[in-house]
Amino acid sequence: MWENWAGNQLSQSHVLRPTSVDELRQVITSEKTPRIAGAGHSFTPLVADASRVVSLDGLSTVSLHPSSENLVWLNANRRLQELSPALGEHNLAFRNLGDINVQTLAGAVSTATHGTGADLPCLSAELQNVKMMLASGEVINSEDDPTGELIAAARVSLGVLGVLLEAQVTLVPKYYLRRRVEMRALQDTLDRMHELWASHRNFEFFYIPWSQKTLRIRHDLAREPMGKAPADFDNLAVYGLRAARSLGHLHPSLRRQALALLSMLQTEEDYADEGWKVLCSQRNVRFVEMEYHVPTEAARDVLMEVIQRTEANHPDVYFPIEVRKTAGDTSWLSPFQGGSRVSVAIHTAAQQNFAEYFRDIEPIFREAYARPHWGKMHSLEFADLEALYPDFHRFCSLRETLDPSGKFLSGYLQRLLVGG
Ligand SMILES: Cc1cc2nc3c(=O)[nH]c(=O)nc-3n(C[C@H](O)[C@H](O)[C@H](O)COP(=O)(O)OP(=O)(O)OC[C@H]3O[C@@H](n4cnc5c(N)ncnc54)[C@H](O)[C@@H]3O)c2cc1C
Repeated sequence: MWENWAGNQLSQSHVLRPTSVDELRQVITSEKTPRIAGAGHSFTPLVADASRVVSLDGLSTVSLHPSSENLVWLNANRRLQELSPALGEHNLAFRNLGDINVQTLAGAVSTATHGTGADLPCLSAELQNVKMMLASGEVINSEDDPTGELIAAARVSLGVLGVLLEAQVTLVPKYYLRRRVEMRALQDTLDRMHELWASHRNFEFFYIPWSQKTLRIRHDLAREPMGKAPADFDNLAVYGLRAARSLGHLHPSLRRQALALLSMLQTEEDYADEGWKVLCSQRNVRFVEMEYHVPTEAARDVLMEVIQRTEANHPDVYFPIEVRKTAGDTSWLSPFQGGSRVSVAIHTAAQQNFAEYFRDIEPIFREAYARPHWGKMHSLEFADLEALYPDFHRFCSLRETLDPSGKFLSGYLQRLLVGG
């Protein structure tokens, strides 16, 4: 049996774990609908809806092979948390990372995993080439494609073009980041968010529902480590927010008082360390998430409406709303294709009923022509997606050429990429 991190996607399939490329070929050619699982950190049924779930945890390919100063071939199925320290030993690093680093490189790029930073693209945009096993068992290298179409499609591919074996990634010299965290009024953050994105390497904020307060996080390049990371209160803070929500059931003013107290307890952070250690943390409290990438000019209005509707209709929600910005790129299925976007993410605890909340909020994103995170909850299908992605049909037709029998297309993916 296979289950994703949040526990909202299950498969009864016994998980196969090939350890060599030949074993993988045998699995891919013999199974009806094999789906590759990375670390299982997507919330959507990208993996679960399969005849067979395949894990490549034990597949050995190249481990770390530099092809020029800042271009390195990596085993695509290694976890980012293993790759970052290994790259650090070579004085190299990923340019940017998301909130966590337990994902596999292949899983992360396949859904356009991103961090935050006005000039920093999502991880997929850093892929220069891939080696991939097709449904037929043949292994191809995008370096052999003079048109550049294969890599434009493979950077964000939801695992429907083939199985990623190795990825050639653009890296940067190892760097240190200074992290500053502070609690500020929502109004001030809304007024200054674009200025803060412009003036810091990484900037993001969390809005705490019913508090009118945001937790602002800024990262800037530093020369060396400085100070010490405080104890990780993030997970504890979520329990505090849950307790405040429960007090709100007695009387709304109690929730506001509890949130005011919690925001006073939030310590301001200021320290520096190696980039990946500062950018990524552990998430111990399980949740389910919807995240849409909103055109920059619509971000403020969308966010205000999301906050207003959350507070008006969903008193049980207590997870913060996360807001980030990512630079544009050219990958065919990248939500950032064509220009930078502001990502707005809403969450509920894994055991809560998320459907009603997400159904209520999603139309706000859709009216703004926002694009969903491929790995996070959304209800879009073929007709919606073709209207959002200028290169959608090119992607679908290349997919059909590479996998004519639709081996990698589960029922869920057919609804997305083939339609009725
Ligand atoms: C706690 C938490 C925090 C998160 N934080 C962020 C964040 O900060 N930013 C962000 O953008 N996202 C974030 N996400 C979402 C997450 O990064 C993505 O959903 C990502 O795809 C998960 O990677 P994975 O290795 O778990 O892959 P999976 O979820 O297991 O798989 C994702 C897709 O990749 C495909 N795939 C995996 N391996 C291969 C392969 N070898 N070849 C071909 N296809 C393959 C799968 O078939 C599937 O389609 C978060 C998720 C969680 C649960």
